[in-house]
Amino acid sequence: MSISPKLPFNPMRGVVVPLIASLVLGCIFCGPAFGQTSPWASSASSGAQVKPAEQPKLIASETIFAPSPQDTSLLTWLCNGYQQDYKVELTHLPTTNKKDYQDIYEDRWKSIKERFDKKEINTDPAAQAYLDALVVAIVSGNPVLKSTPFHCYFSRTYVPNAEYIGQGIILFNMGLFDRLSDESQAAYILCHEISHYILHHQENSIIKHVETLNSPEVQARLKEIQHSQFNKSSEVEGLVKGLTFDSRRHSRDHESQADSMAVVLMRSTRFDLNGALTALALLDTVDKDDFNIAASLQQTFNSTAYPFKKKWLKKEDGLFGGHAQVQKSEFSDSLKTHPSCPQRIQLLTPMVQSWNSGQRLRNVVDSGKFNQLRERFKYEVIEYTYISGDYSENLFLSLEMLHDRPNDSYLIAGIGRVMNGMYEAQKGHRLSKVVDLPAPGYAPNYNLLLQFIQNLYLEDLASINYNFLTPWHPQLDHLKVFKTAYDQSAKAVAL
Ligand SMILES: [Zn+2]
Repeated sequence: MSISPKLPFNPMRGVVVPLIASLVLGCIFCGPAFGQTSPWASSASSGAQVKPAEQPKLIASETIFAPSPQDTSLLTWLCNGYQQDYKVELTHLPTTNKKDYQDIYEDRWKSIKERFDKKEINTDPAAQAYLDALVVAIVSGNPVLKSTPFHCYFSRTYVPNAEYIGQGIILFNMGLFDRLSDESQAAYILCHEISHYILHHQENSIIKHVETLNSPEVQARLKEIQHSQFNKSSEVEGLVKGLTFDSRRHSRDHESQADSMAVVLMRSTRFDLNGALTALALLDTVDKDDFNIAASLQQTFNSTAYPFKKKWLKKEDGLFGGHAQVQKSEFSDSLKTHPSCPQRIQLLTPMVQSWNSGQRLRNVVDSGKFNQLRERFKYEVIEYTYISGDYSENLFLSLEMLHDRPNDSYLIAGIGRVMNGMYEAQKGHRLSKVVDLPAPGYAPNYNLLLQFIQNLYLEDLASINYNFLTPWHPQLDHLKVFKTAYDQSAKAVAL
């Protein structure tokens, strides 16, 4: 039950949408309890920094983002607990059409487990403590929620979304949180997902689905197809396709109910109810594709020693890159089931206006921590794409952020690292495992980056990267990730 109205794709291999750049400067990069073992740890903090012989033209940022370490044993422990809950849940399924229910609940469990297996769930205790505090602020105003326990986690994906995924688990994507402007928006988003949970929307959809599947009409139609001599397989396929349960498909009614219930829940808290309206207005803008990737590539990967070649951006007619348009029809079914954001805002406005008051606050828990996490998450989502082996997404998001923060040490080292990763993958004939291929479902800017990657020869990848990193050497050599990337690219160029 997603809150986002416009992103009906697989978050792990989806349309990349640009983040809204919002600068919050501050020394919050060093991460919690991060020691010398981190490849991002700087050895220059003691004042022992060796200055290069000549003052470099480019000065890299002194603050360096260090990703939060992930607690794998906590993830395993949590996942095992949810597996036990799933087994108990199976024993309570309806006895009629039991097999159909079992299949759907099994699929749901598999997709929950995957989120833990892929380390998508955040385990940073400071971020979790903050999210828990937001939830407490909501639950303390609504004691009825105590009788139906649920758990909220930050998901490390960049996709601007939040989701109730079943078994009382709500995921708040870092890629949405980092775009918010105050806690009242976060509270509204949590209340919307909590509403899906307490109103049993997912379970009701499953019941409706199983009942439709086993209805006399559908069964009669299946029999009819079985007895017909022609086009049997395609007809069955068509019928079954329409009857496959998809937890990502949202009903218009459920969304409207969750929107209204969310404001009801917020009413009993101290949060500003306008957060509901501004959060929906924000969601309306998240799929804007206005980052000029062509200009970024030409600027970032141009050097005197290895000038940018226009042909690297040439669109191949044979690939989708030549016709990079989002084919709306592919997703229209999912899009149609959602009321549009302006409509949703219109529906909620009377409630918000009659219940809001001047005493309500845009920030209730801790605005300092809120801003600190937003800033960290901008980087965490980029790091997670790298960890997940989604190199083209990593490069897109890194270039986009580099546009606003051109001397950011984490981004410079990270681009060097991912370009080396692509080099190694291309060398080992497994580039398609780590980069997407141009496809009609992707945003045009992302498709152009994919085309660029496809157009590069091995020696181009090596030389582009080496010349991109060279101006920062030896200035950033104290950063292990940079030094490794630089040495690797130097070696690749020498081959
Ligand atoms: Zn929803």
